[in-house]
Amino acid sequence: MQISLKGKNALVTGSTSGIGEGIAKAFAADGCNVMIHGFGDQKQIDALCQQIRDAYKVKVAFSGADVGKPDQVAQMIATCEKELGSVDILVNNAGIQFTSNTEEFPIEKWDAIIATNLSSAFLASRLVIPSMKKRGWGRIINTASVHGLVASEHKSAYVSAKHGIVGLTKTIGLETAGSGITCNSICPGWVLTPLVQKQIDDKAKAENITPEQAKINLVSAKQPSKEFVTVEELGALAVFLASDFARQITGASIPVDGGWTAQ
Ligand code: NAD
Repeated sequence: MQISLKGKNALVTGSTSGIGEGIAKAFAADGCNVMIHGFGDQKQIDALCQQIRDAYKVKVAFSGADVGKPDQVAQMIATCEKELGSVDILVNNAGIQFTSNTEEFPIEKWDAIIATNLSSAFLASRLVIPSMKKRGWGRIINTASVHGLVASEHKSAYVSAKHGIVGLTKTIGLETAGSGITCNSICPGWVLTPLVQKQIDDKAKAENITPEQAKINLVSAKQPSKEFVTVEELGALAVFLASDFARQITGASIPVDGGWTAQ
């Protein structure tokens, strides 16, 4: 049984920020080479890649592919295989958010959320499964959300995409069972990242309260622990799911939500 991820290669989508960055760093800390992926200021991205190389002495590649575009997803996988040698671990994490009542939800926002948060995971997974099967080992980890398990108002596209990810996880888990590949989802509650900071700022404006009060109100409303989940906690779970100790965990969607979905 291989205990550490030393020598494995992981592609973490949406790792220029937030949860993906936390997961990529946790993999690198365990000796895994990583492809950082996503949008952002190129200087900051280069600095992040160098910081990971210096801190963990692993290989670090980068892709700025748009995961909503099938040709760019194929390019991203090909670049990772070329630069790192393989995609042993795929983390489908890139995601966006937009909130509105269903009847007012802009069609283009719906399409963008379904493409970025759901279709992207299908597009990337279908390309890595054949070579994972050949090697007899692979891990697909999807960042779903509590919104893959329960709904909240004003998030029709996000909730639909995340429920879709939970379904895709089960299907790939069944199709690959016994092949050395597992596919699981992590379902975080509130994590304080740029994606959530925007929702806090919008809430503060709409309710005419301070961002600090909006932050407390937001996390307290649904998350019984009243504490944000951290990216380090999610990184540690991703490392465990990628390890051989988790080889019998597949098709599962695991809440990390301070009790949100226990209610
Ligand atoms: P974030 O905004 O900090 O990071 C999002 C990442 O996705 C960035 O790297 C961004 O560049 C990338 N990205 C967005 N659209 C892209 C596209 N079209 N192509 C390529 N890259 C793209 O957000 P986060 O909070 O870290 O979210 C990461 C994932 O976690 C998302 O799937 C989100 O739905 C999920 N999630 C977040 C929370 C939370 O509370 N923050 C909770 C549950 C689930």
